[in-house]
Amino acid sequence: MGNPKAFLTVPRKEAGYRPIHDRIHDFGEVEQTLNTRDRQEQASRCMDCGVPFCHWACPLGNKDPEWNDALYRGEWEKAYKLLKKTNPFPEFTGRICPALCEKACVLYLTTGEAVTNRENECAIVERAYLEGYVTIEHPERNGKRVAVIGSGPAGLAAAQALNYMGYEVTVFEKNEAAGGLLRYGIPNFKLNKKIIDRRISVMEQEGVKFVYGAAVKIENGKLKIENDLCDYDAYIIATGTPTARDLDIPGRELKGVHLALELLSQQNRVLAGMEFSKEERITAKGKDVLVIGGGDTGSDCIGTAHRQGAKSVTQIEIMPKPPVGHNPATPWPNWPVILKTTSSHEEGCTRRWNINTLEFLSAATVPDGFPVGKDAAPDHVAGVRVQPIDWKPNPAGGRPIMVEAGEPEVIKADLVLLAMGFLKPQHPEYPENVFVCGDAASGASLVVRAIASGLDTAKRVHAFLATQS
Ligand SMILES: Cc1cc2nc3c(=O)[nH]c(=O)nc-3n(C[C@H](O)[C@H](O)[C@H](O)COP(=O)(O)OP(=O)(O)OC[C@H]3O[C@@H](n4cnc5c(N)ncnc54)[C@H](O)[C@@H]3O)c2cc1C
Ligand code: SF4
Repeated sequence: MGNPKAFLTVPRKEAGYRPIHDRIHDFGEVEQTLNTRDRQEQASRCMDCGVPFCHWACPLGNKDPEWNDALYRGEWEKAYKLLKKTNPFPEFTGRICPALCEKACVLYLTTGEAVTNRENECAIVERAYLEGYVTIEHPERNGKRVAVIGSGPAGLAAAQALNYMGYEVTVFEKNEAAGGLLRYGIPNFKLNKKIIDRRISVMEQEGVKFVYGAAVKIENGKLKIENDLCDYDAYIIATGTPTARDLDIPGRELKGVHLALELLSQQNRVLAGMEFSKEERITAKGKDVLVIGGGDTGSDCIGTAHRQGAKSVTQIEIMPKPPVGHNPATPWPNWPVILKTTSSHEEGCTRRWNINTLEFLSAATVPDGFPVGKDAAPDHVAGVRVQPIDWKPNPAGGRPIMVEAGEPEVIKADLVLLAMGFLKPQHPEYPENVFVCGDAASGASLVVRAIASGLDTAKRVHAFLATQS
């Protein structure tokens, strides 16, 4: 630990976001960066705790105290080498990880001001790329071949680790480019896609092969690609959570009601240069937007709708508003379930909780005199009937009981986005050389957990193949 008193004298300083009036007009990353002096000063706040809870909370077991110390001393290459020991993709987590480590940081408990681990991590890896510390490895081949299905963070982490162990790895991806939800879910204003391209280029130079536009499956213990069956020594299924939770209520068939990812993935593709016809294009321009679902995906829809020029944005959530600041039900060092206000929320949004959705209404079915938009049509959504509710404790225990609280109302909306999570995938019983990882195994989770699962799966594959002749 470089400066034993820094945590007493140096306050937490975040780089912060670009000003709203500036960022709202483009899809560039919203987060800014600190200058080198401030960044090193932030790293000096780390107390090198005897029991580093940051390390405990991180699914990758990142050695934050060690690399914070190196960063404080300006030993950037050393900091990067320590960082990459546990995290293969700090440029992703450094941008979009909710930073479980920071909520478990001892300084978060004692002062509410955790060490800025996520930003520090991002600064280290960006400096590493800039100064050439990200080197190309050329592992010796062991003659065995592994197929990875899906190129999200889980598949990429498994592929990179197995490649380093000497396996010949091919990643099959049904989309036209790699990254999974990093590329086709998370908006560019949180993660610029050049960051993914840069890493894929490193992996390709290191020998990982990528096959795009390849929706493959496992059949009879082999990889089925179109009508061909291909043989690999092991297979990793890292296909994520393809099925979003839908809302099967009257009016679901109306135009203008979309799953969140339909909007988010299309917008990311548009930014990548893909063209869509007027009929296909989903846009919030000039519209009253209703986002159903109060989580991160909903928040990404809000930021996207703002940038597309929405007239208004409302977000509703069926669960109660979480406590602000502190939640006794989730004490430190656990992840605190508290109200989260993202950069997208800050850009403007009406947020409501304890709201159940009853029905999607068109111009033909909204109540008499209800104001409808200029493009209103009988087959297009114009409003959503909702019911304020409350949650009462269940005398039998278990999930609380939902009760009505007030009169139903109609929220004006000509674009509705369903952001209510994803169904956990079910898998058949596979042969012993088939492994499942990431969200495909756990259900919808986080990038850092997907990476950890990919690394763990690579180890399991290696252990399994060591037993095979
Ligand atoms: C809108 C949104 C925002 C999010 N924001 C964050 C965030 O800010 N921070 C965070 O930590 N997490 C975030 N998450 C969660 C995070 O993105 C996921 O937990 C993570 O991407 C899961 O990684 P994965 O590799 O398991 O799956 P995915 O990223 O879903 O990748 C699966 C890949 O498999 C491919 N695939 C599927 N089937 C096949 C097939 N048959 N053949 C070939 N390829 C196939 C898919 O095309 C996809 O590329 C967000 C999720 C969403 C939806
Ligand atoms: S818990 Fe916080 S202060 Fe302690 S070692 Fe980890 S980052 Fe440093």
